[in-house]
Amino acid sequence: MLPPGSTIGILGGGQLGRMTAMAAARLGYRTVVYAPETHSIAGDVAAAHVQGAYDDTTALARFATEVDVITYEFENVPEAAVAECTRHRPVRPGIRPIHLAQHRLREKEFFRKSGLGTAEYQRIANEDDIAAATALPGILKTCTDGYDGKGQIRVATQRELTAAWDRLHRRECILEALVDFQCEVSAIVARGLDGQACCFPIGLNDHRDGILRTTVVPCGLPPAVQMAAEQSGLQLAESLSLVGLVALEMFITRDGRVLANEMAPRPHNSGHWTIDACTTSQFEQLVRAICGLPLGAVDILAPSRMINLIGDEAKDWARFLAEPTARLHLYGKGKARPGRKMGHVTYVTPKV
Ligand code: AMP
Repeated sequence: MLPPGSTIGILGGGQLGRMTAMAAARLGYRTVVYAPETHSIAGDVAAAHVQGAYDDTTALARFATEVDVITYEFENVPEAAVAECTRHRPVRPGIRPIHLAQHRLREKEFFRKSGLGTAEYQRIANEDDIAAATALPGILKTCTDGYDGKGQIRVATQRELTAAWDRLHRRECILEALVDFQCEVSAIVARGLDGQACCFPIGLNDHRDGILRTTVVPCGLPPAVQMAAEQSGLQLAESLSLVGLVALEMFITRDGRVLANEMAPRPHNSGHWTIDACTTSQFEQLVRAICGLPLGAVDILAPSRMINLIGDEAKDWARFLAEPTARLHLYGKGKARPGRKMGHVTYVTPKV
């Protein structure tokens, strides 16, 4: 157990690291952020920001020995960087979750091995794979480096599949059958050092252009479907032997089946509502899990709707501040580029 007063190292300097650092500070922990940039929005609220490349083993070693435990705030942190940190301090949740999450095919195979349902999928790595493809109509996705809808092309026929694979530079891909879903949801699960696990209430997610737009909690789905979604998240955390947080994004099909789509072994955008509308926030829960503290309760304090502020939308901050049920969060990012997550607002409606 790492008591308050200990230091948490965070690989990555974005908004998830920033909100983790803020939650850690509330519980009396120090945080040190490691990121390649000279300045980071996580570093702005941490005790220190260490600038270093992810392949600079000397800088990583120095950072690791300055902290008591290490976590990461994005899943594309290079495995070798995590391996270097692991030589000096515990990294929670470790290398395996990112090894899986960085590769869509490995991830899907792991879901199946863990007993989770998924869409039908196939590996597309050569022309023979294309000729044998049956998961059509589907979505062709690059196995690596795709996020927020990037590196994905919808295809209906084998001819379209060939053209799409060319457009993706003939990289290793996964073809997933298009799921006719009624909605998308996510389960965020924390699992502690003692193996105790806890799932936050299921969030109902709406995506636009591949980017999360809103999350609504409670999700309003039948209790049996919610329980099945929670169970999938818990099963995943167990099968990863996770210490930390994992978010599992899922499709709910029209006949109520739960299909796992993607996981992220870190706090998740669809869990931001927990800061304002849950007894314990996902960020505090992560701190508790990686420091060996008991996990917090996850009761919904009030129904809520989280809306991402993307690009110029954050310029409306004065309007959100004036709305009595809106809780505004700005990430302190400089330039508002299209598609860039600048902040979020959570509308909280008190229970009556
Ligand atoms: P992903 O990057 O896999 O999370 O995909 C981004 C978004 O594309 C998802 O949130 C869905 O809205 C949509 N999508 C991805 N895969 C599928 C699928 N197999 N069937 C239907 N929609 C999908």
